[in-house]
Amino acid sequence: MERTVKLRVKVDHATYSALKEVEREYREILEDAVDYGLRNSTTSFTRIKAGVYRVEREKHKDLPSHYIYTACEDASERLDSFKKLKRRGRAYTDRPSVRRVTVHLDDHLWRFSLDEISIATKGGKVRISPTFHKLFWRYYNGGWRIAGEARFRLAKGNVVELFIVFKKEEPKPYEPKGFTPVDLNEGSASVLVGGRPILLETNIKKITLGYEYRRKRVQSGRSTEDRDVRRRLKRLREKYRKADIRRKLARLIVKEAFESRSAIVLEDLPKRVPEHMIKDVKDPQLRLRIYRSAFSSTKNAIIEKAREFGVPVVLVSPSYTSSTCPVHGSRIVYRPDGGAAPRVGVCEKGGERWHRDVVALYNLRRRAGDVSPVPLGSKESHDPPAVGLGRWLRAKSLRLIVSELKMIEMKA
Ligand SMILES: [Zn+2]
Repeated sequence: MERTVKLRVKVDHATYSALKEVEREYREILEDAVDYGLRNSTTSFTRIKAGVYRVEREKHKDLPSHYIYTACEDASERLDSFKKLKRRGRAYTDRPSVRRVTVHLDDHLWRFSLDEISIATKGGKVRISPTFHKLFWRYYNGGWRIAGEARFRLAKGNVVELFIVFKKEEPKPYEPKGFTPVDLNEGSASVLVGGRPILLETNIKKITLGYEYRRKRVQSGRSTEDRDVRRRLKRLREKYRKADIRRKLARLIVKEAFESRSAIVLEDLPKRVPEHMIKDVKDPQLRLRIYRSAFSSTKNAIIEKAREFGVPVVLVSPSYTSSTCPVHGSRIVYRPDGGAAPRVGVCEKGGERWHRDVVALYNLRRRAGDVSPVPLGSKESHDPPAVGLGRWLRAKSLRLIVSELKMIEMKA
């Protein structure tokens, strides 16, 4: 596992100039290396390095030689991803362009300590002293180690942007004792916690539509400059807000699965937006955005978090998960017009009522191989407790939410 943390450091003019010099020469080597790779149709680091090293060493006498290695690695990566883009028909030029350069460093070219970070340049080492932010400390103190490779980029105003890479071994996934199925929707995520269904409201669709609506209103404002800035700010805020919801949701779900030593069961979602999923949104772009943040990005957030904790994840086929009765195996009929409770349907065989998301949870669990009995005709099956966004975002665990719900039930 890898995480990259960016540090912005303002440095003095001499340091900046020394790094600027490195950047300039690194760019020259990188361009030559990319050329070499294209001429010899290779993306291999070893071949590129063998091909350009001597000439570049001659050209850049005082530059620490490892910059030639890292530039060749950089070239090999760029050529590789360009090749992939081309294969998918997504490359719009006939060669990879070297526009913005981020200088790659290996363990010979930089040294890390909390007091100072040194970087090799033509005239010896330069030393910079960053202030570390909260995210940095979270990884630094959270069992991650700093990798030997790093990168830097020069920004305006004597600012150096350092990219520090943290690494951590992935824990071995355990043998699951049970399953924690999760059903994702455009406005909520449902989970079975200790066998009880709960519905966590995420409001992803509402948030996306809300920001879109406000952006449209801003667009009709007067000053264009002002309008642009505000629009971009809104986009950014929307992004952060949704990422925060996803991250916290993933953490709660993974924590629950980890503590109950179970595997998370998710639908293996199709790559393309299934039209019916968010059918009331007409604008296809907007629909895609909602789909991405509510389904695929949320799924990825859960998978990534699970990997961090060694929680196994089982992906199962999404077909008919909400239209087959988990007790009778018969069809569940949802009223075509929706009615007052559009997500509640009736089993064709037993006549009992089911909430779509609860049906999906039991079916997901079964598809993963769990055959424990499914409660029939309980209130939760057609009316699962819904937990508002504001409430679960602050919750410590899903267990606590469920036991609170039980308390409320008992009092009622
Ligand atoms: Zn049934």
